[in-house]
Amino acid sequence: GTTCAAKINVLLLGAKGVGKSALAVRFLTHRFIGEYHSAVTIVYRHSMVVDSRERVLEIVDSSAKPGECSLHKAEISAADSVAVVYSVTDAESFSTARRCLQRVHEIRDERPPIALMANKLDLDHCREITRTEGEELAEEFNAHYAEVSAAESSSDIEPTFLYLVQKAVGCSAS
Ligand code: GDP
Ligand code: MG
Repeated sequence: GTTCAAKINVLLLGAKGVGKSALAVRFLTHRFIGEYHSAVTIVYRHSMVVDSRERVLEIVDSSAKPGECSLHKAEISAADSVAVVYSVTDAESFSTARRCLQRVHEIRDERPPIALMANKLDLDHCREITRTEGEELAEEFNAHYAEVSAAESSSDIEPTFLYLVQKAVGCSAS
C-alpha cells in the first residue's frame, strides 16, 4: 500500500533456539542476556522515528513450538514484515526456515517484506550452513539476507530490522 503506517508489526519466525528472542532483545536494548522466555509469543513495543514521523514498532516474537510455522497463521496474516531466523550451526533450523518462507508465501498473496537472518555467526567454527546456501534460499523467496550474531554486537542486526521497518512503512521515497 501507499499509506504511511503509524504502527509496524514485524514478525519473527524460525525454529526453537535459533535466537529470535536474543535478536529482538539485542535490537531493542543493545544487550545479550543469554536466556530468554520461549513458551509464549511475546510482543515488544518500541517507538521510533522513521521518515521524520513517530511510529510504534511491534516485534512479535513467536513462541517456540517444535520449530514449525504452521501454528502461526494469524501472526503471518497480520505481519507488516517478517524475519525468518535460523542458526548457521543447525542444519535442521535451515530446513525449518525454508518451511517458514514457504508458509509466508502460501498465506500471503500480497507478499510482505521478508528478511532471512542467519544467526550465531560467532559460532562460525560449528557452522553447518554456508553463506552461499543462505543467500540462495533468500534469493529463492525474494528475501533480504543477513548474517548476524545476537551474542556479539553485530552491525547487521540493526540495519536488517530498519530495512523491514522502512519497507513496511510504505511512504518513503525509495
Ligand atoms: P529462540 O527460541 O529462537 O527465541 O532462541 P533464543 O533467543 O531463546 O536463543 C536460544 C539460545 O541460543 C540461548 O541460549 C541464547 O543465549 C543462544 N543464542 C542466541 N543467539 C545467539 C548467538 O548469536 N550466538 C550464540 N553463541 N548464542 C546465541
Ligand atoms: Mg524465543
